[in-house]
Amino acid sequence: MNTRFAPSPTGPLHLGHGFSALTAWRMAQAAGGTFLLRIEDIDPSRARPEWEALIYADLRWLGLDWPEPVMRQSERAEAYAAALDVLWDCGLLYPCSCSRRDIQEAARAPQEGAPLLGPDGVVYPGTCRGRDRGGARPEGAVLRLDMAAALAALGARELGFSETGQGLEGHGGYVGLTPENLLSHVGDVVLCRRDMATSYHLSVVVDDAAQGITHVVRGRDLFEATAIHVVLQALLELPVPDYHHHRLIRDATGKRLAKRDDARALSAYRAEGLSPQQVIALFESSA
Ligand code: GLU
Repeated sequence: MNTRFAPSPTGPLHLGHGFSALTAWRMAQAAGGTFLLRIEDIDPSRARPEWEALIYADLRWLGLDWPEPVMRQSERAEAYAAALDVLWDCGLLYPCSCSRRDIQEAARAPQEGAPLLGPDGVVYPGTCRGRDRGGARPEGAVLRLDMAAALAALGARELGFSETGQGLEGHGGYVGLTPENLLSHVGDVVLCRRDMATSYHLSVVVDDAAQGITHVVRGRDLFEATAIHVVLQALLELPVPDYHHHRLIRDATGKRLAKRDDARALSAYRAEGLSPQQVIALFESSA
């Protein structure tokens, strides 16, 4: 079994990250497998070396270990370009020039009904889908997956994954994805951003396969993104790992902790003099 923790070095790790990393590390330990670390630093405007250094320090403090060298997404541009080329050559990507505002407005148009929210916000209304896609993959362009074309290319292939955690319904089992739901609730997601020549979805799928990850451990806030990842794995002919979506850490009042709540940073607890065991007890007592 290979599990992983894949933080973005864009701020301090908080309790939720610690819980996720510890869950993945313990699963690997229990199975005699390997826990891998991957630094998701594809966003040059937000990733900082000092946050990366703090990730290593925090995880070591919690008692985790992992093989070196650590995979860093900023060093993987060629692998992402190769995957984008495959999808482009199959006619499954198209360039998009819509701004966030264009998308909001098109999605709000009266004939569209209430805008649907997918894993990345409003489901793209398809404005640029009909654009000419001839020639080589354009550099420096936003590229979207044509979900309808992708599903047609996959034909009758069954899409789904094994949930070994709580999933959305609080139990594990096989989670099947339907074409109807993928079209209406996921739609044409961005696979290549202008500023990073890749996207979270594309990189995570390419790298989970490259690292031989058999069990993806992550919070249930990413449950819907997993649907996109399973479609990409099918299109790129990559294995589908098992997914373990764990509960989210909440504060004493039951409120989900904000992603970047610096008061809950592992380093803040450490600075206050808490021991790793006391912090681990905090994860365990928050349900
Ligand atoms: N890098 C993502 C984050 O920090 C998580 C990656 C994943 O589990 O797929 O939110």
